[in-house]
Amino acid sequence: MRISGRAKTGEFQFDCGQGERILYAGLHQGVPLPYECASGTCGTCRARLASGEIKELWQEAPGLKHVKPERDEFLMCQATAVSDCEVLVPAKIPLDEVQQPRYKLIGELIGFSPCTRDVSTFSVRLPEPIQFHAGQFVVIHVPALGGYRAYSMTNFTDTTDKLEFVIKKMPGGGFSEWLFGADREGTQVNVFGPLGAATLTVDDDSDFLCIAGGSGIAGMMSILAFAEQRDVFERRSSQVFFGVRTLSDRFFLDELSRIARKFPDSVRITLALSDEEAAAGYADSEGLYYESGFVHEVAGRHIPTNAADMITFIAGPPPMVDGTIRMLLVKHRIPATQIRYDKFS
Ligand SMILES: Cc1cc2nc3c(=O)[nH]c(=O)nc-3n(C[C@H](O)[C@H](O)[C@H](O)COP(=O)(O)OP(=O)(O)OC[C@H]3O[C@@H](n4cnc5c(N)ncnc54)[C@H](O)[C@@H]3O)c2cc1C
Repeated sequence: MRISGRAKTGEFQFDCGQGERILYAGLHQGVPLPYECASGTCGTCRARLASGEIKELWQEAPGLKHVKPERDEFLMCQATAVSDCEVLVPAKIPLDEVQQPRYKLIGELIGFSPCTRDVSTFSVRLPEPIQFHAGQFVVIHVPALGGYRAYSMTNFTDTTDKLEFVIKKMPGGGFSEWLFGADREGTQVNVFGPLGAATLTVDDDSDFLCIAGGSGIAGMMSILAFAEQRDVFERRSSQVFFGVRTLSDRFFLDELSRIARKFPDSVRITLALSDEEAAAGYADSEGLYYESGFVHEVAGRHIPTNAADMITFIAGPPPMVDGTIRMLLVKHRIPATQIRYDKFS
């Protein structure tokens, strides 16, 4: 099926295979369609069908609250084309810019390994190496379940055929309950990506701040790995705030500790415990700082007054991300262009 589209910045065309999601088809063919979660919740990939027929793949998608069906609006991440279509995209998209390659691959689940009572790491082995930016995510589909879920890579190397992840078990959650529920080693999964703009790249030359709630630390681990490999900490400094509920909910402690000890003058990592009184201060044996409180409140106490030039990364549950963005904009006057985030919705 041929998709002909118009955005505020110009026109575009691409092909959509049978059953293929319109968003993924466009991105795969280098069209910079707008998206944020790419998995049906945020509504950023809203478009209007001007002619042709589409099929909606998830009628209960939370992101549908952002569309007006009476105006033939739909979510490109949750729709496939049934005939040639004309679509209108109400966004300014950089049609002249070359896009990074987006891969459609079948990978294999490997290495599921528990970290805490409800957090585990796992990996996907790909049939070929791919490239991604530190902080990006992919969407994963298992044939046993409907839809794709987004997961941020925790690792970083220039090219790799192994994507590493961390996942929190959500009560009643389709993919997480499935993954935690039995031995899934070797199961084949569809992978699409890389996606996401909450990234640190060679073009960035600023101090940076990471504020993560729970599994939101995923992309920050990739960012820290990138910064270490590219000697960023020799020029720039970073503060990392990692929020968990209690001491027993901590994970990635060894790796965070290693980084904090290796770069004592340029990296400061603080764990914020929301449901437990922490002995506030520096834990000498780990090289990490501890404080009690919600992670954005703890971060707020330490953000330097001259933070306007800092790049800030935020990831975690949507209310935590929204609260942190508000604080950075209003209280710390950090420009919106310096704030990069992923809402783990
Ligand atoms: C950019 C981004 C990065 C993320 N990174 C991580 C991470 O690194 N670690 C982590 O633990 N979590 C991450 N998440 C959250 C993750 O994607 C899942 O929402 C979470 O794991 C719960 O999934 P679940 O299947 O267990 O729960 P569910 O409630 O079953 O599903 C959660 C999500 O899956 C999709 N979905 C569910 N059912 C369908 C369906 N029938 N058709 C289509 N789509 C459906 C929707 O997006 C839904 O919100 C991220 C989310 C985003 C948006």
